[in-house]
Amino acid sequence: MSAYYQLAKKIIQSNFFRLSLPYRLSFILTYKCNYKCKICNIWARGPGEAEMTLPEIEEFFLKNNYISWLNLGGGEIFLREDINEVADIIYTKLDNLVLLDFATTGFFTDRVLSFVERLGRYKPKKLFITVSLDGPKETHEWLRGIPGSWDKAIETFRGLRSMASASFKPYLGYTLSKYNFDKFFDTVKAVKKAVPDIGLDEFHINLAQVSELYYQNEACLDASWAFKEKDRISALLGSFLGQKRKAGNITLFLESVYQSRLKQFLNTAKTPLHCRALSASCFIDPAWNVYPCVSYNKVIANLKELGFDLRPVWQLAACRQLQKEILKSSCPNCWTPCEAYQTILGNLARIFTNSLESVGFL
Ligand code: SF4
Ligand code: SF4
Repeated sequence: MSAYYQLAKKIIQSNFFRLSLPYRLSFILTYKCNYKCKICNIWARGPGEAEMTLPEIEEFFLKNNYISWLNLGGGEIFLREDINEVADIIYTKLDNLVLLDFATTGFFTDRVLSFVERLGRYKPKKLFITVSLDGPKETHEWLRGIPGSWDKAIETFRGLRSMASASFKPYLGYTLSKYNFDKFFDTVKAVKKAVPDIGLDEFHINLAQVSELYYQNEACLDASWAFKEKDRISALLGSFLGQKRKAGNITLFLESVYQSRLKQFLNTAKTPLHCRALSASCFIDPAWNVYPCVSYNKVIANLKELGFDLRPVWQLAACRQLQKEILKSSCPNCWTPCEAYQTILGNLARIFTNSLESVGFL
């Protein structure tokens, strides 16, 4: 059975029941970061925190080779000296891997480009890389706390763009916060000067989220800002969605649903679809703790203590119970692309029905 077929099957099944194993992992390689962002405190926690080792990573993927979609997270993953070896492990152990994705600041241009070149030997089926860019130069560098970071991000993005193919796509990721939500189109204009033929399809917009577990940003990101600014954010999203393609490939579909449901989230403060955390996906931190997702600070187990096998953890009574509660929205409720895409894919029937209702068919 091909890896694509297996993934499609798992996605369809996730619309009807909890999977016997997750198909997607958020896998956080490090909390180290060389940036000092205003909306995230990972940079402050990184140096003192435990970090998974290469032999541990190898053992984990050897025992959990059923994963179809792997999201690598940081910190900045290119601060790991062994990032190339991590990739070698991933592509030699995960026979069923379809999609690898991760975000980077783009600061280490050479490392990022040579990493992608190295991945070429494994012929990744799908590889998506997001270079974070949070404003025109001045705003971005103020928000990110690093002079020169805008030019670095653009240089890396241009380099990646020159390597793009049917299986590899780079994007610019714009995280909306109270500091920059009114500067998105100024950013597009500024980027166009450096990359004249860039299209809006090459931008991803997401909403800054508060996470006690991951970003530890409760003190620096007022959780209520987005709800106070919901009308202006909705207007921005409306304009963005109105100008870009909404269909044509799976990424455009996911983005389009994510952004249109973001308006619903801002109106209700409730996750707009039944969340698939612990049903199709989970989150693993650099110390091997397993959580439902990036936003829910509820440790289920520690994989290092349990021999790096996720299967028994997935079947724990506590894990199953938590999943039931999440399905009923008994959780912090969020709407972040880190978690929303598998939720969208696990709610296809509902999305389809809602679309028919919105055009008066039902
Ligand atoms: S948002 Fe990203 S780049 Fe900024 S401090 Fe957090 S992990 Fe580092
Ligand atoms: S809705 Fe958000 S906070 Fe709740 S479980 Fe899902 S991803 Fe986590």
